Amino acid sequence: MLKRYYVTIFFFLLTIFFAILTVTASEVELPLLGIVISIDAGHGGRDPGTMYGNIYEKDINLEIAKKLEAQLLSKGAIVYQVREDDVDFSSDYDKRKKRSDLLRRIKKIEDVNSDLYLSIHINWYDNPSYHGAEVLYYDSLPQNKIIGDYIMEEFIKTLGSTRHLTPTDLYMYQTIKIPGVLIECGFLSNPSERAKLLDPTYQETLAKTITSAIVRYYT
Ligand SMILES: [Zn+2]
Repeated sequence: MLKRYYVTIFFFLLTIFFAILTVTASEVELPLLGIVISIDAGHGGRDPGTMYGNIYEKDINLEIAKKLEAQLLSKGAIVYQVREDDVDFSSDYDKRKKRSDLLRRIKKIEDVNSDLYLSIHINWYDNPSYHGAEVLYYDSLPQNKIIGDYIMEEFIKTLGSTRHLTPTDLYMYQTIKIPGVLIECGFLSNPSERAKLLDPTYQETLAKTITSAIVRYYT
């Protein structure tokens, strides 16, 4: 009788042990489980963003955004894309097309109750020697600088970026009420960085680097 009692206890404890192990494993595999992230691929449609010949920022932004979505999904996040195609959100009737486009982007991000948004852009500077990925934030919410710091640290460590976290007062980032940052993935004006930004393998590296920072922020 006593022996049977011990056997039952043993199997009971064994079950608990494996249950804990399973929960821990799934938390490790899906560290972003339940986190809602909106990815805002900058520009699109009638707005090409910065450009070099027939290379448009809007197209590179979308490629990186799609790769970032895959990475974030693999970590358990719920991901919304502000745009999935070559479109903008202004209408022919809008007097201020850029402003209307940005307001509709903000609405899309807020409507799905995002925990975080990530705007994806490509930089340009008249001096072609400028290069490196960087993060911009607006100080409306304390989280913005913290998230920005995490991503910037990862850009410096993994991509060897020599840029730094920079404040911005761009309209969209002042107005939005969800935590997030603007990511400038590199300079289209720098020839070697331009080649990298067009390379799907490098775009993948960017997506993984950003995702590592987001995982670190949430864990
Ligand atoms: Zn841009």
